[in-house]
Amino acid sequence: MNFLMNLMPLMRNCKEVTALVIAREDRHLPMRERATLRVHMLICQACPRFERQILTLRNATRQWRNHIENDEPEQR
Ligand SMILES: [Zn+2]
Repeated sequence: MNFLMNLMPLMRNCKEVTALVIAREDRHLPMRERATLRVHMLICQACPRFERQILTLRNATRQWRNHIENDEPEQR
């Protein structure tokens, strides 16, 4: 079974993964880091929940920004 051995270099702890989830909001992650995230999300309970909260927050921020831009384009 080489499958798990191939995944081993991609294993990260939750602290590193949450840091990556946050970093992803600001910059484009390399393929390796995106793979790291995906692998961890499969084996972890807490981090997918955290990711969902970040995505919800991001959507809310985007909607708020659209709202501001549409309503008051001159006042930024
Ligand atoms: Zn985790």
